[in-house]
Amino acid sequence: MATGTVNAFSVDVEDWYQVADFDAVVGFADWDRYESRVARNTDRILALCDEAGVHGTFFVLTWNAERHPDIVRRIVAAGHEIASHGYAHRLIYEQTPETFRDDITRAKATLEDITGTAVLGYRAPSASVTPRSLWALDVLLDVGLRYDSSIFPIRDTLYGLPDADRFPHVIRRRDGRELLEFPLATTRLFGRNVPLAGGGWLRVFPYRYTRWAMRRVNREGHPAVAFVHPWELDPEQPRMRTAGRRGFSTHYVGLRGTYGKLRRLFRDFRFAPLRDVLGL
Ligand SMILES: [Zn+2]
Repeated sequence: MATGTVNAFSVDVEDWYQVADFDAVVGFADWDRYESRVARNTDRILALCDEAGVHGTFFVLTWNAERHPDIVRRIVAAGHEIASHGYAHRLIYEQTPETFRDDITRAKATLEDITGTAVLGYRAPSASVTPRSLWALDVLLDVGLRYDSSIFPIRDTLYGLPDADRFPHVIRRRDGRELLEFPLATTRLFGRNVPLAGGGWLRVFPYRYTRWAMRRVNREGHPAVAFVHPWELDPEQPRMRTAGRRGFSTHYVGLRGTYGKLRRLFRDFRFAPLRDVLGL
């Protein structure tokens, strides 16, 4: 049994074709035409959590919740937290404040109808809270959310707020309102912040890097948040040609290893839902 700092574990509940890397080839209006694999893949994560005695936060994309409310109920029944990954997986900085407000309002209300519990947290599609979309934090407060976990304190072409605080902190907006922020985990390497425990970084880097970096954050006295997507545990998913948003994509890299890495992560570290780590 792992001891030490309680970190946060999280899952962004989206399907294999709902990722930003496929935006150019998969239109939102066509989502229903693709094979749905999200229920089975989420169940694999639930089984791993159950085996390890880990509870986490599942940021559910509400388009999926509408089609598979049973998944949401299984997540809740297993003792995990339900939070929001928005409705249609549109990057915030490609929306207006009005369309973002509509998206998040519908997303939150639908999840609350299914679970009967208040949704407290939000994670943006592709960490799209950046210098040009900080207005989104005010919208999150307007609709009654208490925390956000979308800020990536790194320099990157797609996302990132490189000067943001690396650890959980309170963001005070100009009007005095406060939102808790749980930034995506990073460590310091060669004078830069480098991601450590989630998505492509978990799949592409050897597990020993993730373990080293996460222990380092914990030794500094802070929790880290790990994140994974259901499709990352699915090596059999359909193959689609994509140039990604950067001219390359890591979508299909390391899919066979994610299951084992997650199992080791659960063995080596303690985890809880973000709500609990933030003391909400
Ligand atoms: Zn996502």
